[in-house]
Amino acid sequence: MLPLPVLEKAASELVCYGDSGMSVMEMSHRSPEYDAIIKEAEALLRKLMQIPDNYKVLFLQGGASTQFAAVPMNLIGRTGKADYVVSGQFSGKAFKEAQKLGYNVRCIATTKDDNFDHVPQITKDMVDPDASYVHVCYNNTIYGTKFPEVPDTGDVPLVADMSSCIISEPVDVTKFGVIYAGAQKNMAPAGLTVVIVREDLLDYAQEKMPTMLEWKTMAENGSMYNTPPCFAIYMAKLVYEWILGLGGLEVMQAMNQRKAKLLYDYLDSQDYYLAPVKKESRSMMNVTFVTGDAELDKKFASEAGKAGLKSLKGHRSVGGMRASIYNAMPYEGVEKLVAFMKKFAAENPKG
Ligand SMILES: *Cc1c(COP(=O)(O)O)cnc(C)c1O
Repeated sequence: MLPLPVLEKAASELVCYGDSGMSVMEMSHRSPEYDAIIKEAEALLRKLMQIPDNYKVLFLQGGASTQFAAVPMNLIGRTGKADYVVSGQFSGKAFKEAQKLGYNVRCIATTKDDNFDHVPQITKDMVDPDASYVHVCYNNTIYGTKFPEVPDTGDVPLVADMSSCIISEPVDVTKFGVIYAGAQKNMAPAGLTVVIVREDLLDYAQEKMPTMLEWKTMAENGSMYNTPPCFAIYMAKLVYEWILGLGGLEVMQAMNQRKAKLLYDYLDSQDYYLAPVKKESRSMMNVTFVTGDAELDKKFASEAGKAGLKSLKGHRSVGGMRASIYNAMPYEGVEKLVAFMKKFAAENPKG
């Protein structure tokens, strides 16, 4: 979801932005009007996440998946090797991408054998102190798990895919070397990828790599080496304004916690639905549950859809149900879901 006030604001200036005489979609990215938009987007994200001055903020394309290749290409030159934690599908893909490119990477922990129902515990002694970085996926969108705290990797830079939890709560950016996120889950429409990278990590890029993937080039050009995803960046700016208007990330976090608690408390109070994720790894953004009967799961998603509760079908790879309750989902939306779940359970007794 995107916040309704954001969509309404975008609609109101869709055809003509300010007194520019044109839509943001029509502007040259080099125009003064657009320059103000992208600069403001960066300034607002810095304010929202309290990003220190020694970090660069990049607005890129290609999705989080492109960063699966960009991360090793930009960083592994530091020491020649890197460590990965595989806590779900996306972190598995990130690991495989680095392997595919021929880099010396190893998986230091995985919860694959437990169907990714929790995140591995990471301790400093598991990490190669000579690794260029440790890669984690902070919130596992498909399985509905999240690291309860920032893993301690000692002096080895931590690289985190935050696609499905960025700006859902405050994070201490200084504990990360790199944070990246596809914007379409919690920030903006598809087409934008945000990379937040500590400056001293910009100097290790492979000599032979696509310029478009080089963070340093993008940083030196203010994300305008080529045409950036102009409209998605503008939408992100409106989303940042919306959150700051609510009071910032502490307020957003409290709202998200209240929504997640309502749903998890219900799941814990009954035995019709099962929540497969271990409590200490529960995600605040993606809540997964099953009835234990694949046919009933299918019926649930279909009837929920008819009742106006959309996109509840679990990821195609795991089945079951998944309620993605990102920032823009109102508390009332979760109340309606819980009411529907009760009704469905009463009307569909198990055999
Ligand atoms: C959705 C998602 C991705 C893939 O993002 P794209 O922008 O589609 O490449 C990667 N990682 C996580 C955690 C995701 O949720």
